Amino acid sequence: MQTAHDTLALIGNTPLVRLKGPSEETGCDIFGKCEFVNPGASVKDRAALFIVEDAEAKGQIAPGGTIVEGTAGNTGIGLALVANAKGYKTIIVMPETQSREKMDTLRALGAELVLVPAAPYSNPGHFVHTSRRIAEETDNAIWANQFDNIANRRAHIVGTAEEIWAQMDGRIDGFTCAAGTGGTIAGVGLGLKEKDEGVTIALSDPHGAALYEYYAHGELRAEGSSVAEGIGQGRITANLEGAPIDTQYRVSDEEGMEWVRRLLAEEGLCLGLSSGINVAGAVRLARELGPGKRIATILCDTGFRYLSTLYNPEWLAAKGLDAPAHGANG
Ligand code: PMP
Repeated sequence: MQTAHDTLALIGNTPLVRLKGPSEETGCDIFGKCEFVNPGASVKDRAALFIVEDAEAKGQIAPGGTIVEGTAGNTGIGLALVANAKGYKTIIVMPETQSREKMDTLRALGAELVLVPAAPYSNPGHFVHTSRRIAEETDNAIWANQFDNIANRRAHIVGTAEEIWAQMDGRIDGFTCAAGTGGTIAGVGLGLKEKDEGVTIALSDPHGAALYEYYAHGELRAEGSSVAEGIGQGRITANLEGAPIDTQYRVSDEEGMEWVRRLLAEEGLCLGLSSGINVAGAVRLARELGPGKRIATILCDTGFRYLSTLYNPEWLAAKGLDAPAHGANG
């Protein structure tokens, strides 16, 4: 075990775990990148660190300054812990539909939390536009702008992709994940393609997002809806521009939840729904590529962030999703 010289050095270099059920079911080796072990318990710590250090390198933020961001929660948690470690303040704008645990975590970290009603991107009250306005109106503040700030995807080109390549000894046939900002899929995709053009990059898109139709038929068109937090994009963000997507799947909440339940009951992994959707996509990619292939995906965040939702039978019933099957071994 290594000793990190500070908290920020704990971000990234996450372990890779072979997922037993998905691997056995497909005859492939399917690996999950354990992003829930980051100090903020999600993949977004990486983007938060790169965005803040990019702003510092450009002289855009000074000690005592404020970082403002609109987020489904995880980026806010990452930014708040990076800000605490570096002596900045944070103002986080979040849709009020996100999990209670994320709100409590942000408040505990000392972020100023601004909750707004969920609204379409075209509405000026959307959390992204609200956060930009607050940044403009606040002295000595920057807007992190994770959707269109490509410091986000750089974190995955130089970090996540390099780590996956090294951890899989350069033997990888496919990679898949969902997109929120698109930083992860674009960054890991670009990084892996730089190593080996032959790695298949697949988008696993939830219902309610427009990217599946865009990559399949060239048209941004959304259908249905999803309760997954942090994923489901309706436009080509700057981070998604030039993303090397070879194939795409549309994954339902039911299919994602089935893997959330199975990974918990059979492998002891407590994850959020975007991870379940990613694993469902990895299983589809494995079936498409055939037995014996090596596939990686992202385990985006911890399920402890969703105890009041995904792991709460009443909440699930209200959303029309089945209650979780309890541990197989009593
Ligand atoms: N899963 C979760 C739980 C997230 O919070 C996010 C970030 N919004 C993602 C997946 C998607 O990551 P990215 O923004 O890099 O596309």
